[in-house]
Amino acid sequence: KVVCVTGVSGYIASWLVKFLLQRGYTVKATVRDPSDPKKSEHLLVLDGAKERLRLFKPQLLDEGAFDSVVDGCVGVFHTASPFYHNIKDPQAEMLDPAVKGTLNVLRSCAKVPSIKRVVITSSIAAIVYNGRPLGPDVVVDETWFSDPAFCEKSKLWYMLSKTLAEEAARKFAKENGIDMVTINPGLVIGPLLQPTVNTSVEPILKLNNGAKTFPNATFRLIDVRDVANAHVLAFENSSACGRYLLVERAVHCSEVVQALRKLYPALSLPEKCADEKLSAPIFQVSKEREKSLGVKFTPLEVSLKDMVESLKENIFSG
Ligand code: NDP
Repeated sequence: KVVCVTGVSGYIASWLVKFLLQRGYTVKATVRDPSDPKKSEHLLVLDGAKERLRLFKPQLLDEGAFDSVVDGCVGVFHTASPFYHNIKDPQAEMLDPAVKGTLNVLRSCAKVPSIKRVVITSSIAAIVYNGRPLGPDVVVDETWFSDPAFCEKSKLWYMLSKTLAEEAARKFAKENGIDMVTINPGLVIGPLLQPTVNTSVEPILKLNNGAKTFPNATFRLIDVRDVANAHVLAFENSSACGRYLLVERAVHCSEVVQALRKLYPALSLPEKCADEKLSAPIFQVSKEREKSLGVKFTPLEVSLKDMVESLKENIFSG
């Protein structure tokens, strides 16, 4: 049982590799820079890694670079994609790696008949950004698609990258007979295996900064372990198909602050909501499809606690 995971230095992929090794898979793992210990050391010490984890370094945009990596695999998990703010050149930094990178991986997959399914890490970013009205009673589900024109007009480059990448992947998979499933998580939180902080946990870490107010913002949160597990389920469950939107809870920032305060009274958390326009509308998210996949939801409080514990030694304690 050999599988490939791309972008294994990442937050989600690190947990995915851990779970795949636990389940007895041999994992061909791709990492941009294997010489950087921060990118792979935490994976090399996982149970089973010595025997069944192999690192490769194909570059996402090098044509054919994934041919030899996916060769012999039964499944491919494509998670590698840029996810950060402050982008200077959206095309080169974000859109090309996301879209061309995904197609490059899929082109290699199309050459390998042993591959039963490809699971792609997409995002809620490819679902909700289309200008349709949102509100507390609106339930967003997998039939929603973000609109590239809307994302571009609003300069939502990450959202655009995920939308175009998923669209391109779906088209390529259909035309080439690839069985493809996408996982579309909300904002991912929970414990980190790697020694670096991920973009999605930053807004939570920022709450512990001694400021008087917290942002007037809403989040749709999901635990990183549930996301990684959903990837495994989406591969192993033969009836899995299409997209799976993953959100445990839609919350206002005030609820996150409250939960953190209850868990860690000594943290330097803000008391009041900032007097500013709500940064993103509140809306609900359907859980029907993710439940059908068998995903178990880690409650927000547990995700927060485990996340803080995993960071306690360094960042969160300030
Ligand atoms: P990380 O930033 O932790 O991981 C991203 C991974 O992609 C890293 O391995 C990174 O490699 C790799 N990568 C980024 N840019 C490139 C590039 N140009 N060439 C090659 N590799 C690249 O993020 P996450 O684990 O959170 O993200 C994993 C996937 O999940 C992404 O597709 C992201 O869009 C998606 N996602 C994440 C959510 C979240 O809240 N975290 C929510 C929804 C979807 P390197 O370490 O070398 O930079």
